[in-house]
Formats: sequence, structure tokens, C-alpha cells
Amino acid sequence: MSDSEPMATVAVAAFDVRELARGAKHTLALDIAPLPGGEGLRLPLLAAVGAEPGPTVVVLAGIHGDEYEGMLVIPQVFADLDPTALRGRVLMAPVCNVPAFVTAQRSSPIDGLNLARVFPGDSHGTITQRIAYWLGRKVIAEADLLIDLHSAGLAYHIPTLVGYYHADTEAGRASQRVARHFGVDVLWGHPDIAPGRTVSFATERGIPWVYTEAPGAGRARPEDVAAFTRGVWNSLRVLGMVEGTVEPVAPAHHLLGSGDLDRSIAANAGGLFVPAVALLADVRAGDVLGEVRDPVGRALEIVRAPVPGVVISMRGLLRVHPGDGLFALTGRA
Ligand SMILES: [Zn+2]
Repeated sequence: MSDSEPMATVAVAAFDVRELARGAKHTLALDIAPLPGGEGLRLPLLAAVGAEPGPTVVVLAGIHGDEYEGMLVIPQVFADLDPTALRGRVLMAPVCNVPAFVTAQRSSPIDGLNLARVFPGDSHGTITQRIAYWLGRKVIAEADLLIDLHSAGLAYHIPTLVGYYHADTEAGRASQRVARHFGVDVLWGHPDIAPGRTVSFATERGIPWVYTEAPGAGRARPEDVAAFTRGVWNSLRVLGMVEGTVEPVAPAHHLLGSGDLDRSIAANAGGLFVPAVALLADVRAGDVLGEVRDPVGRALEIVRAPVPGVVISMRGLLRVHPGDGLFALTGRA
């Protein structure tokens, strides 16, 4: 089957990756649920099934609907995969939260839910819970490695990095090995992961994982698309699924922390946010990170670091409401 064939729609409950023909590529649409307009919510899935058995790698993009790098990476990797020379399977979902993609939002416009907070989902729940349920059960659960391609999206600003599970377990060691060979020189290890994520779903099943971040901002920088494309190929090489060797990258920054950007330093005042530090800067407790100004330029709030750390994320959309996250800090490994 060539990748130019039309999408084959499959009822998701009946879908089984083991039934996909070997030595072939499959362009599928998993039918999740009917929508009010009469169309179905269909999750696109690109599957390359090698002629020889081997590991299964799952690559996801568009878990957040306003992060575009991975959406460009996946079709490119799929086009270049040769199933006759592949060991194992590569399952790739290029746009996981389809409704959020349609409206260019992080979360779903239908039920307001963040797909990265609702795993393992619910087969009888709202649309985002159903996407999580089926994506988890039918796709991620099959993985020997999960690669979840994110970026900062419209509202945030994050350096290009690869995140991984930092634990002295089989899954943790495998995660770190993939991260070190991914090809990106900012590594962010997470000893623990809050529930509801694709990666917490994987952790609970002993599946190694990495994810990416990049500046985002509604764009996809060519260097980030190239870096993540190389990272997916490097991961397949590390697992021995395609020919070629790959050397580990010495990290310019090796960071360690929870990775929970929900627990960031939030704005008290609404206004215009003006950062005073750069991403990846080291700050001490009490250092000024930025301020929030009113429309005539007066500072309403001076934002200071509550603890020492490295600036790993900051607000990218400069209009802020009270409670919006402005900064996240993490530690060095
Ligand atoms: Zn994201």
C-alpha cells in the first residue's frame, strides 16, 4: 500500500494493530464518535508495519491543538519509511486532538478539556475523554517506546528540548538512552509525572517515553521540524528498527524536575507581561523575572523567583489575565 492511497476509516473498537498487513504502510482514520454535524470524529493514524517483527514505536502530535511542529514531522517520517526495510511497527497519530486543531486552541472547544490531563480517558465520557481512552488503549498501550511531540503552542515560550522519564528502572533507563541519542542538546529528566498525561499513561504500563518542546508560538521553525524528524529517526536507530548508528549528544543543559508546567509562577494582575530574563537562565530566589504593566506602562506587579532555578518556560502571549502562568523553573541534573 502506498501512502498516497485514501484514508481507510476503521471503527476504533474493532481496530487491532496486529491485523495490519506486514511490509506495508497504512493510512487510517479511527472513527471515535459521531459529531452533531453528522460527520464522525476521526483520528488520523499512519502505520508503517515492517516486513520483520520488532518493537512498536508510537509517535504522537497535536495532543495540544496549537502545536504544529510534530504535525509536520509525522507525515515526513511516514513518507520516508520503507516497510520492507523496517523491523517492527511505527504508529503515528499526527493530530490527536482534532477539535482543538480545528480552532487553533490548546484544549478542546467542545468540552474544554486538555487532552494531556485526561488519560486514561473514558469510553463513555466527553469527546476528549473518548479520544484519550481509544488512543491509550488501541495505540499507546501497544508501544515499546512513546514519542510525544509537543511545543510551546500559542501562549507559552519553551526552548527546544527533549523530556524523558528519569528513573532507575528499565523504562527509565530506556527513556534516558533515547533522549541522549535524540539529537537535541537540552535534556529535561522527570523523576515523577503527574497523572492524566500520555507519558503518565505510558509510565503506569512500564513503557519508556520521551517528549519534545520547542518555542512554538503558532509557527513551526524549520530547525525544530528538522530536529524532531531527526530525533524520531535516531530513536528508530537506537531500537535497531532501521539501519544506521547514532552517537549520543553531549547535553548543553541537563535539567531535572517535575515538568509540571501547571504549577508555574502565576500573574496576580492582568495586563501586559514584560519578561526580564531569558529561557535557560539561572536565577536566584528573589531575582526579578519580569513585570506586568497596565495600559499606560506602570508596573502593576514585579514578578520574582520564589526559589532558585533555571527558567524552563515563560509566557509567550504577552496579554495576561490574573492567574495566567508566567514562568516555570526547574533544576539542573
Ligand atoms: Zn503540548
